[in-house]
Amino acid sequence: MAAVSAAIEYAAEGGLYNHMTEPLLLGAHMSIAGGVHTAIERGCSIKCTAIQMFVKNNMQWFARPLRRQEIRAFCDHVQRGDLLSIFAHANYLINLAAANPQFLANSIRALSEELTRADQLELPFLVLHPGAHLGAGEEAGLEKIVDSINRVFRKIPKVKARIALETTAGQGSCLGHRFEQISCVINNVCEPERLCVCLDTAHIFAAGYDIGSAAGIKRTFREFDRTIGLSRLAAIHLNDSKTARGSRVDRHQHIGKGQIGLDAFRFIMRDRRFSKIPKVLETPKGKELREDVINLKTLRGLL
Ligand SMILES: [Zn+2]
Ligand SMILES: [Zn+2]
Repeated sequence: MAAVSAAIEYAAEGGLYNHMTEPLLLGAHMSIAGGVHTAIERGCSIKCTAIQMFVKNNMQWFARPLRRQEIRAFCDHVQRGDLLSIFAHANYLINLAAANPQFLANSIRALSEELTRADQLELPFLVLHPGAHLGAGEEAGLEKIVDSINRVFRKIPKVKARIALETTAGQGSCLGHRFEQISCVINNVCEPERLCVCLDTAHIFAAGYDIGSAAGIKRTFREFDRTIGLSRLAAIHLNDSKTARGSRVDRHQHIGKGQIGLDAFRFIMRDRRFSKIPKVLETPKGKELREDVINLKTLRGLL
C-alpha cells in the first residue's frame, strides 16, 4: 500500500493525472539492457507511470535463471513504487502453434520460464502473440495454441503471472487478428482465469478494424466487449500504424504520425473504462528516449 500511495504522490507531482483526477497509467516499453532493474530507471527518467519490459534477452530462446540479487534489485528498487504498473512481454521466437516438434518444445519451455521470471519479478502478466499456424490453417492453429497453453500451465501450477494474449496484425499466418480467435483460445483452455488480453491499436488497425474515427473506435470496443469481454482487457499498446487499415502488415509509427489519426488515442485516453488499464507505447526510439517523451506528451495532450 505504501508503494501505491508513493506512486500516486509521484503522479501528482508530475501532473500525471487524467481528466478525472485519477493517476494516469501511461508509459512505454523499456529496455532491460544492463539488468532487469534498469527498466524501472529508464521508465522513471521520463516520468512513466506504467512500463512494459522483456524478462530476458529477447533474441534468445533461454537464459540462465534470475539471480536472487537481480530479483531483489528489481523488486526492492527505490523507484519501484513510482510505477503503478509494470508488466512483461514474451520473446518473439515463441510460437505455440509451431508444427516442428523441437520448435514447439522450445516454445513451451521458453514460455514457462518467462512466466516464472515474470512471477519472480512480481509482474502480473506476460504479453504473448498467440502464434502462427504456418499453413496448417486457422482451426488447427488455434487447437494447437490451446493445447500448448494447457501444457504450459500444467508445468507451472504455482505461477500467478497470467498470459495476456495480444491482438495481432495478422501478418503471414499469425493468429489473433480477429477478436473471435482470441476468445476461441480463452474459451477452450483448461484454466481460462490464467489468461487476459492486451490490445494493440496498430495491430487491430492493420488487421482491418476501423478505428480511424471516434465512431469506429467506439464500435470496435463494443465488438471487443461482445466477443472477448472488456473484463479480460489487461493492457493497451498505444501505437500508430505506418501501414494502411487492413494491410495486415505490422509497422508501428509515432502517435499522430501514422494512418490511424488521433481520434482512437483520444477515445482511449479519455474513456473512464480504461483509466485503470496500463497503456504503453511501442514506437521507434533512440537511447535517449526523446521520441517517447514526445509521444507521451501528445497522448497527455488528448486528455
Ligand atoms: Zn507484442
Ligand atoms: Zn504490441
